[in-house]
Amino acid sequence: MSVRCLLGIHKWSNWEYKEETSCLQIKKCQRCNKTQEELIHKWGEWEYKAQNSCIKIKKCYRCGERRERKPTMDKDHQYVTEYSRSNSCHYFRKECTRCGHTEEKYVTTPVHSWGDWVIFKDEKKAMRVCKHCGGVQTKELQEYLKKRSTYSNSWYR
Ligand SMILES: [Zn+2]
Ligand SMILES: [Zn+2]
Ligand SMILES: [Zn+2]
Ligand SMILES: [Zn+2]
Repeated sequence: MSVRCLLGIHKWSNWEYKEETSCLQIKKCQRCNKTQEELIHKWGEWEYKAQNSCIKIKKCYRCGERRERKPTMDKDHQYVTEYSRSNSCHYFRKECTRCGHTEEKYVTTPVHSWGDWVIFKDEKKAMRVCKHCGGVQTKELQEYLKKRSTYSNSWYR
């Protein structure tokens, strides 16, 4: 046996498939015949399992081995979000347009659906009303004019 092989420095052949139908690959040291095996799949892209499902699958296009991935995060679904309680801007209902999964969500900071600002010149105030919960926000007119561009009509998405 070669000294180098004893030191763990082998002269590996290229990886070769062991069988036609499996992804098990093998390489062999050309000096000491030591072998090493590894399973290396040729994965395709993740694809939806079914039209009305958010489960994705990928398949090895050599051996047909499959992997499944269940939706665990918001982005794995195609949610549309709307208010779930008529007089609160804290509660939302998310419904997935693909698989129909629904979830109710509470947010600590309310997400209002503000109407346009209304200016009260005499009182030197600006005010807007949430179209959903009726909540009111008032600002000093001066402050409102200064920061006007930063007040956008927010809508929860
Ligand atoms: Zn060797
Ligand atoms: Zn495979
Ligand atoms: Zn879904
Ligand atoms: Zn509101």
